[in-house]
Amino acid sequence: MATIELNGLIKRYGQTTVVHGIDLSIQDGEFVVLVGPSGCGKSTTLRMIAGLEEISGGEIRIGGRVVNDFQPKDRNIAMVFQNYAIYPHMTVADNIAFGLYRSKLSKSQKRQRVEQVAEMLGLSQLLERRPSALSGGQRQRVAIGRAMVRDPAAFLFDEPLSNLDAQLRTQMRIEIKRLHHRLGTTSVFVTHDQVEAMTMADRIVVMRDGRILQVGTPLELYEKP
Ligand code: ADP
Ligand code: ADP
Repeated sequence: MATIELNGLIKRYGQTTVVHGIDLSIQDGEFVVLVGPSGCGKSTTLRMIAGLEEISGGEIRIGGRVVNDFQPKDRNIAMVFQNYAIYPHMTVADNIAFGLYRSKLSKSQKRQRVEQVAEMLGLSQLLERRPSALSGGQRQRVAIGRAMVRDPAAFLFDEPLSNLDAQLRTQMRIEIKRLHHRLGTTSVFVTHDQVEAMTMADRIVVMRDGRILQVGTPLELYEKP
């Protein structure tokens, strides 16, 4: 688990500034949701934390260490995307194990770890299937499994549920929260959906035009008279 701190974080594309000096402190184990309309800079912010996007100014700290110059693989965080990002030609087991491709674990240790993760996600019976033989929710769980298997210090979720139908979306919100309660891993979850933010967040960060508009618990932000 790790804290994540953003200090004066800036992103420019050419002359256009899309993130205007964001300050945010995320606690160990906290589930923070970044919410705001399309184009307000949520995904860019997340990708900068992941190291998938270069920053134009400011500082990112993970677990107290400045990671500005760290490669994604050295940040010990895992990203879960909306488009699953799983491999169609590989089995569920191999897709999950792919998260360990750099690890020094032995083959049997990897297998054990994959089975452990599959068990937590209710995928134990599906390990030898290919993604084409899975439901949308099962595929999303495989993507989460791939991220989980390395036991990262933090999870970054980039609108992971927006391709799912309404019923499945509700179910996956509950599953992700249950997993968070079980693992306690610091999580940053991006969505444009206020209901999703309200039902999932320990703390909500409302963004507009590359800035933070408001920060608070769901109760503080939405249930005031
Ligand atoms: P959100 O995730 O809130 O929908 P994004 O972070 O994806 O917003 O985008 C923020 C702004 O940055 C948008 O105006 C978008 O058009 C712009 N943007 C994103 N990526 C690029 C890029 N590679 N080049 C130029 N502008 C970009
Ligand atoms: P290489 O060029 O050697 O593949 P990269 O810097 O391109 O190295 O990144 C690959 C590594 O970055 C992966 O091992 C993985 O740990 C990390 N990585 C890349 N994308 C993600 C992601 N979406 N979520 C978590 N880690 C990622």
